[in-house]
Amino acid sequence: MTAILSNLQATREAIARAAQAAHRSVADVHLLAVSKTFPAAAVREAYQAGQTAFGENYLQEALDKMESLRDLPLEWHFIGPIQSNKTRAIAENFAWVHSVDRLKVAERLSAQRSPQLPPLNFCLQVNVSGEDSKSGVEPEAVSELAMQVAKLPNLKLRGLMAIPAPAADEVEQRLPFSRMRAIFEKLNSLGLGLDTLSMGMSQDFAAAIQEGATIVRIGSAIFGARDYGELQ
Ligand SMILES: *Cc1c(COP(=O)(O)O)cnc(C)c1O
Repeated sequence: MTAILSNLQATREAIARAAQAAHRSVADVHLLAVSKTFPAAAVREAYQAGQTAFGENYLQEALDKMESLRDLPLEWHFIGPIQSNKTRAIAENFAWVHSVDRLKVAERLSAQRSPQLPPLNFCLQVNVSGEDSKSGVEPEAVSELAMQVAKLPNLKLRGLMAIPAPAADEVEQRLPFSRMRAIFEKLNSLGLGLDTLSMGMSQDFAAAIQEGATIVRIGSAIFGARDYGELQ
């Protein structure tokens, strides 16, 4: 058995245990495999182990990988910071974007997404830990932005995404995820009909599932430690 196959199996089992502990159906928690910095061959291996949804942070790296994996029916999610001059390639090549945090980016994605394609699914990234350096819309500003972007054509607002600051243990990890759940419920009380909470990574996905995550974005637990050497 390869490392990616056994890591994927272990990750799926851990997700199932967390869902069970939270009295949730495991079918409501989707695994996004974050393949940034890993080669197309690693994605192919994960696909052979049954994984079809992959997350990427860096546009050019993602486009190169898509090109070498054209023969596979993969679903690509863009999860990195978005520069406005990169929106066209994102709108043309991805099924989902998790990291929209301003109106201008949503408007550009809407204008650049072909009406021939299915609507581009997207989440608003929320700066839930309130750190200046992190991207994401401030919690107080989410409702207003959500109401604006929910109407844009060729896009479909599915929910919210967050990358909380690292925390020491599961109790502490749950706090920002619980705030996310509250914001999510508030938006749905406004009638937005959202179905996605994209939260939880290799170190904190169990806590995120406890608080209602519907997509967990997991990289290193599946593919191993990342080496950023060539990318930066
Ligand atoms: C890299 C990354 C992940 C995966 O992180 P791991 O700790 O390797 O699981 C998830 N989400 C985002 C936005 C990332 O940039």
